[in-house]
Amino acid sequence: MNETNNIPNQANSPALHGAGARLVVLGAGESGVGAAYLAQQQGYDVFVSDFGAIADKYKQQLQGWDIRFEEKQHTEEEIFTAVEVVKSPGIPEKAPIVKALRERGIAIISEIEFAGRYTNANIIGITGSNGKTTTTSLTYHILKNAGLNVGLAGNIGKSFAYQVATEKFDHYVLELSSFMLDDMYQFRVNIAVLLNITPDHLDRYEYQMANYVASKFRITQNQTAQDYFIYCADDPETVKYMEGRTFAAQLLPFSIQNKLALGAYLDGEEININTPNNHLQMTINKLALQGKHNIYNSMASGIVSKVLELRNQSIRESMGDFKNVEHRLEHVAQISGINFINDSKATNVNSTWYALESMPGEVVLILGGVDKGNDYNELRDLVQKKVKAIVCLGKDNGRIHQAFADVVKNIVDTASAKDAVQAAYELAKKGDTVLLSPACASFDLFKSYEDRGEQFKRAVMEL
Ligand code: ADP
Repeated sequence: MNETNNIPNQANSPALHGAGARLVVLGAGESGVGAAYLAQQQGYDVFVSDFGAIADKYKQQLQGWDIRFEEKQHTEEEIFTAVEVVKSPGIPEKAPIVKALRERGIAIISEIEFAGRYTNANIIGITGSNGKTTTTSLTYHILKNAGLNVGLAGNIGKSFAYQVATEKFDHYVLELSSFMLDDMYQFRVNIAVLLNITPDHLDRYEYQMANYVASKFRITQNQTAQDYFIYCADDPETVKYMEGRTFAAQLLPFSIQNKLALGAYLDGEEININTPNNHLQMTINKLALQGKHNIYNSMASGIVSKVLELRNQSIRESMGDFKNVEHRLEHVAQISGINFINDSKATNVNSTWYALESMPGEVVLILGGVDKGNDYNELRDLVQKKVKAIVCLGKDNGRIHQAFADVVKNIVDTASAKDAVQAAYELAKKGDTVLLSPACASFDLFKSYEDRGEQFKRAVMEL
């Protein structure tokens, strides 16, 4: 552990089963393949099963390590002999194989839970509906620049399990989705961050917001008085859930709306951070990440950094030179005085709200795709105030027309990134911003949000 760190080691549960016991991994993506590697290293008899096709890269890895696997099927005789199953976060509870395992009482855990048994590192876990990747990457950047021996994992990059098997980090910054949290039981997060809770993925939670909220709070479930829970005091769902409940960890909230004695708050243009023994002040003008949502993200990362007692100067420098991850309010180019911004990762209404909120001047908004049951009403006020034209980029744009026809005069339909960029360019004037922040998933016209963002950027560069 690092000298400056006052947090005791992780006390996760030890390995539960002896050598040679059958461990099954369901799903052979990044997390599943990493879990298989770690399990084999720990002496398990590992079998990997994926109901879909396995990507070549992962097949080669499994073959190279001599780990048995199958694809496009689940062989029950192989799977039901497991003492424990590590399930990929993408496999829903309603999948027949999961139901069958539950009926047999076979334990199902996440890759994070499994890997946590084999490391004593200090765990910083970050969850929320929006801002996870940004805040996790920023936190990692600050810790690494400060000289800590730190790994980055969870939903990002190489799997946690693979790194636990092959690295010796003192700290991990983990991006934790609610699907990962759902299969976590003993795993203890030493510094937990919950950024915000707005409706998303409700199809996996029986369309009950309460279930989704409870899932997010699992990040606190094994915390002790030595741990920290960092959360947004301005977030209504978070505050509502916390009322009347007690938490073992030390609470460090952050707020833009109110001054707080402990945690972080905004005072004019200054962010103030107070942990029990430390103080940091920095101006928001020096932050590499701009926009109100990023003030929240920066506050959360800043509190983590002060809990770890990093030097103020080092934190300020890292917050100033951080390069945001692609497709999140990414500035692409300025052409004829028009700024083009790629926020393709905005796949729900809340993230588009924050993107619009942070835009100066008038905006041509590129919106649309696969709508997960959006309530566009939440955007109406901002759209009325800032958006001069909407360019729809989707197969079915009916709901967007319906929602905004009376507040925006110009709404046009397009069905490719190239056409959308061309239309937006014609509608914008010098000083305006063209913002791709679709509020929808991308699968109707694109392979993924990354593909949508890439095609957008290419089209802009070809103008
Ligand atoms: P996640 O990993 O939770 O999906 P990202 O950091 O990838 O979050 O950001 C997803 C989208 O949400 C981007 O469009 C980004 O601009 C926006 N966003 C980032 N932080 C926040 C926040 N704190 N609140 C709302 N939206 C945010």
